[in-house]
Amino acid sequence: MFKKFLLIIFIFIINIFNWAGATEVYKINSVNFDNSDNVVFLGSSSNVQYINVKSMKLSNPDRICFDIENAVLTRPNTSWTFKNSDIKQFKISQFTTNPNVVRVVITYNKNFNVNKLRLHRVDNNIIISYNKHLFTQSDLRSVYNDEKSTENYYEYTTFIEDEKNTPTAPANSNIRTPEAIAVQKAFNSKGELIKPDASKIEIKEQPISKLKSAFYVNRIDVKRGNALIRGIGSISIEKPFVMTNPDRLVFDLPNTYVAQGIRNQEYVLSDSETIKIGQFEPTKARIVVTTTEPDKYRPIYSYDSQSIFLAHDARILGLKLYDKTSAIYTYSAKKIDDTKDALQFTFTEPIIHSIKKFDNRVEVNLYNCSGFNHEAYKKNLNSEVLAKLRTEALPTYGIKLIIPIGKTSQINFKQSFDNKRLALVIETPKDTAINKPGPLFIKRNPNVKTIVIDAGHGGTDVGATREGIYEKDITLDMSKRLEKILDKKGYNVLMIRDKDTYVSLQDRVKYTEDNGGDLFVSIHVNSSVTPEGVGLETHYFTPQSYEFAQIVHKEFANAIKSKDRGLFKSRFYVIKNTTCPSILVETGFISNPEERQELMTSERRQKTAEAIAKGIQKYLGKD
Ligand SMILES: [Zn+2]
Repeated sequence: MFKKFLLIIFIFIINIFNWAGATEVYKINSVNFDNSDNVVFLGSSSNVQYINVKSMKLSNPDRICFDIENAVLTRPNTSWTFKNSDIKQFKISQFTTNPNVVRVVITYNKNFNVNKLRLHRVDNNIIISYNKHLFTQSDLRSVYNDEKSTENYYEYTTFIEDEKNTPTAPANSNIRTPEAIAVQKAFNSKGELIKPDASKIEIKEQPISKLKSAFYVNRIDVKRGNALIRGIGSISIEKPFVMTNPDRLVFDLPNTYVAQGIRNQEYVLSDSETIKIGQFEPTKARIVVTTTEPDKYRPIYSYDSQSIFLAHDARILGLKLYDKTSAIYTYSAKKIDDTKDALQFTFTEPIIHSIKKFDNRVEVNLYNCSGFNHEAYKKNLNSEVLAKLRTEALPTYGIKLIIPIGKTSQINFKQSFDNKRLALVIETPKDTAINKPGPLFIKRNPNVKTIVIDAGHGGTDVGATREGIYEKDITLDMSKRLEKILDKKGYNVLMIRDKDTYVSLQDRVKYTEDNGGDLFVSIHVNSSVTPEGVGLETHYFTPQSYEFAQIVHKEFANAIKSKDRGLFKSRFYVIKNTTCPSILVETGFISNPEERQELMTSERRQKTAEAIAKGIQKYLGKD
């Protein structure tokens, strides 16, 4: 087949093969094709010194082969075929087993300039990149998802395709700027929103693809207290969450690989705030911002979403985030099914945006977007979803879209590869009672107080650990003991968790509020970097919590033979955001060997629970 035009054009040698250590096998564990930056990402956990790759250019059909020597593909042979692209096919397979060669074949059409293909070794991985956009269609990919990502999280979706013609200004118009032309396209001469012409809309069924988009992070820069996180590939973010002690804001990036050089490096954002990024799981990165103001941060996606600017609301005021302005070109709203709605916007230029979800709304900031006719827009709201949408001007430039949602709504935010299209899919479960996560507490007796017991940490959030002992297990056991005592005394008791599960801090507050908690007690175990730290602490934040904290702490410090470290006013998320009197009890130090031993005994745990229960009784005037 390829005898006639077989040409060996060039040879990539990433490193000269080390003949002396030739037995090391390079295992390829993952293959990701990322068409946002046209990168093939071959992931490996093999720590080999050298990777040897030979390339051959072949014709009929035109293709390039990369032979990765002394390599084993630990996953099935894979082949992807592309439409509307200069690459026709990508294929990776175990070519020979003796010697071990993994062959990558990229078949392309005449528009493809093979000399622009680049191979990089990044840590143990191989990246094949091409510096020109290959895909002409603007498929959507998820940049933010409320749910944990699944294996096929990156997939083509079906949407109404907007007409692709370039907008032209009406003949009698003297407005000629691209922004103005685009606005005219969306609004008629009376300032009314033009409905997309149904005859020009075709619904294209896109094949569901299992291609995954990988992101490789290799750089963090701090700019005026904001972090610019850069790499190659396309960023996607899961719903952020907050962890305590110290307060941290956490973003997980699925399918992301972090360069060794920046892993777990701490970057300073301000006097009291830092940021770092780590490899949380083999295919998941975790960004942790240590801050007492987790609500102030939002990720801003760049034009090509190959970088995010993790920005503090106050510190981006006056910062210019764009060099090109854009305008809304078309809009559409579509009901996908009973529970899902999709809102879609197209823009004249790539858009810089952020998305932030609140309990009752989603805010999408369009930083480089102008020309939104609010009044005309409002007049023409005839879609149930669009009808709820509001807009506001951003402080310096750009607009904010505010879309009301239900408390239980899940969102998935998508962006096209040309970054001129955004789609927001809102899923609102029909039966919210069934779909509602977490404890649903039914008040047994309206005449007695409801006490919320919050066992600190849980699930993947293990809390402080020493010698294989997890804070989350101690807090759960103490909480269960406290529950038993309070239950016997006849109170309504709500356990935020009664097993080893992860509950976000936001949800802990939400469950307390939803269930009308009268008192909130969060149980934790302390730790310090040195083993000397020892003793008991009670934390409160709101004025209504002070007396409660005082009374409980007194009982607690009297009952337990350890150092009384006293009361603290602390901005812990759970005690700051609950409305009822709320305290957080640090029941001892896991980092102190003697106290750790004590904390492992049922005696200490029971005494702690009893003391807290006694404090609660006293505070409620029942003792
Ligand atoms: Zn804790």
